Amino acid sequence: GTGPYDPQNVFARILRGELPCRKVYEDEYALAFHDIAPKAPVHVLVIPKGPFVSFADFSSNGTEAEITGFTRAVGKVARDLKLEAPGYRLLSNVGVEAGQEVPHFHVHLFGGKALGAMLP
Ligand code: 5GP
Repeated sequence: GTGPYDPQNVFARILRGELPCRKVYEDEYALAFHDIAPKAPVHVLVIPKGPFVSFADFSSNGTEAEITGFTRAVGKVARDLKLEAPGYRLLSNVGVEAGQEVPHFHVHLFGGKALGAMLP
C-alpha cells in the first residue's frame, strides 16, 4: 500500500481551500478540477472528499454512498464537459511504482482529442 493518509498532501489542501484549483464540479462526494500540467486538451482530476490514499483504499473502505456518489460524479463531469463523443479515458495510478504522485485517490479524465489505443 501507500501507507496511512497524509492530511498535508496537495489534494487534501485543495479540498480544504488552502490551495487554489480550477474547479469543474463539486458535490457532497467529489471535487473535480483541471490538472495543473494537462496531458490532453481536457485533463481533469476527480477526487473523493474522504481521506482515501488510493483506489485500493477507496474501493475497500469507502461506503456505498461514497463509492456511488464519486462514480456518478466522474460520469457527470465527462458528460458536462461533452467528452462522451468521441470518447474519453479514465486512469488511476495506484502506488508509487505505478506512478502515483499524490497520495489522495484521484481519477484522471482525459479527452478532447482522439486518444488511440493505450498500452501500460
Ligand atoms: P498521479 O501521478 O498521482 O496519478 O497524478 C497526479 C496529478 O496531479 C498529475 O497529473 C499532476 O500534474 C497533478 N497535480 C499535482 N499537483 C497539482 C496541483 O497542485 N494542482 C493541480 N490542479 N494538479 C496537480
